[in-house]
Amino acid sequence: MFIVQLAAECAPVAKVGGLADVVFGLSRELEIRGHSVEIILPKYDGLRYDQIYGLQVTYHDLWVPWYGGAIHCSVWFGFVHGRKCFFIDPHSTDNFFNRRAFYGQHDDVARFAFFCRAALEFLLKSGKRPDILHAHDWQTGLAPVLLFEIYQRLGLGRTRCCYTLHNVKHQGLTGEFVLRATGLNRPEYYFHPDRLRDDGNPHALNLMKGGIVYANFITTVSPRYAHEIRHTDQGFGLNHVLHVHQRKFGGVLNGVDYDVWNPEVDPHIPQRYGPAGLDEKYKNKQALRQRLLLREDWRPMVAFIGRLDHQKGVHLIRHAIFYCMHNGAQFVLLGNSPDPAVNNDFWHIKRQINDNPDTHLELGYNEELSHLIYAGADLLIAPSLFEPCGLTQLIALKYATLPVVRNTGGLADTVFDADYAPKPYAERNGFVFDGYDVPGIESALGRAIAMWHRQPKHFRELMENAVRYDYSWNHPGQDYCNIYEYIRDK
Ligand code: ADP
Repeated sequence: MFIVQLAAECAPVAKVGGLADVVFGLSRELEIRGHSVEIILPKYDGLRYDQIYGLQVTYHDLWVPWYGGAIHCSVWFGFVHGRKCFFIDPHSTDNFFNRRAFYGQHDDVARFAFFCRAALEFLLKSGKRPDILHAHDWQTGLAPVLLFEIYQRLGLGRTRCCYTLHNVKHQGLTGEFVLRATGLNRPEYYFHPDRLRDDGNPHALNLMKGGIVYANFITTVSPRYAHEIRHTDQGFGLNHVLHVHQRKFGGVLNGVDYDVWNPEVDPHIPQRYGPAGLDEKYKNKQALRQRLLLREDWRPMVAFIGRLDHQKGVHLIRHAIFYCMHNGAQFVLLGNSPDPAVNNDFWHIKRQINDNPDTHLELGYNEELSHLIYAGADLLIAPSLFEPCGLTQLIALKYATLPVVRNTGGLADTVFDADYAPKPYAERNGFVFDGYDVPGIESALGRAIAMWHRQPKHFRELMENAVRYDYSWNHPGQDYCNIYEYIRDK
């Protein structure tokens, strides 16, 4: 099959979070399985250009319809670690993608609506006729709409669309202008509850809802999250439309790219190790301590890696820092927040604990250091309010670092409590808690730290269990192939 991935992120060239890893990892897996895959991205000024090989303009004069006129674009092509990527580069005073940031601009809806229209126009004009267009998250929710309302009759008649929800908190709510801009027009038609009209606000269009309504199949990134967004307030108002379209909706757990995240081959860690030699892991703990100027002591190392977003349980992360400090553990945090107030708060804590030999906060984004932390830590916390899939716990498992997670979304699908999971001991791989509160995280973190100190043999068994799990792209890759095959025009 010929598959085109359409997304706002792709690792490592344009990465904010897990979406980027998924677009890259899934594409790679599909290629390994013999499919032809191309990825279309915006040509942001902030791309990691050092990670793109052979970048050159491949299509010079793409005129993309926009508000009754057209915007002149170039389309660039380059390889990103072997993946074929196309980058849309509009030449207009809107300067859509030269903002030194991927998101958070006042005109994000217009930027990504334009991206969708440009991507489809590019497919049409360049003669590409994919079997499957796979769109991701609200930024590309308009792609299935444009495909079936405009481009199908222009020549993309055989292309079918898969749409993946990575986080339904962000849905792309907007006004009528987007219809005029993209040439969809006909507000009375699209402002219909069966199409794009938002279920909560009758005056708004909902781009993610559009993707759900028009796509041939919708997935989200874990089975538990698929259930939560239909049946709980985690659906943020999409519950009804997901219910209506339930027959074309399912949860597929994300995979992890074990070429990048694998302690047996990881070039970023000083000591490689695998299931047969887990003791070697501790040399990485030593290296991590040296790098962050933490003391060498008989204590477990607890880590957090991720965006410091409300979703991630910021107050519980903050609490865990001090809890570890006072309960015989060390703590390392690697994260940053787009919200200045949250960043300031963590900078404040960082200054407060500056001289503490057991705690280090690294406030920023650092891919390379993240590898050393996954390898060096004993435990990794993910106390999320909600978590569609979560990658950090999956990566941690591969590095024999036991996750301590809240019982939600993909965390609940992948981590099984050492004491309480309804599974044989050999299948337990971490610590899980229910309450989104201080007693909740303390109950699990306390058990984890105590087990490390008092039952090292048990702790070691859990590590051995953890590395036996296969959360690679192997299974989800097959699931996506089945979905594509199911919806493909045969
Ligand atoms: P989300 O997509 O909600 O941000 P995920 O757990 O799905 O969360 O994915 C997070 C990914 O981003 C992981 O690969 C993690 O290692 C990485 N990451 C997050 N924050 C940082 C950071 N500050 N430095 C390095 N890597 C980070």
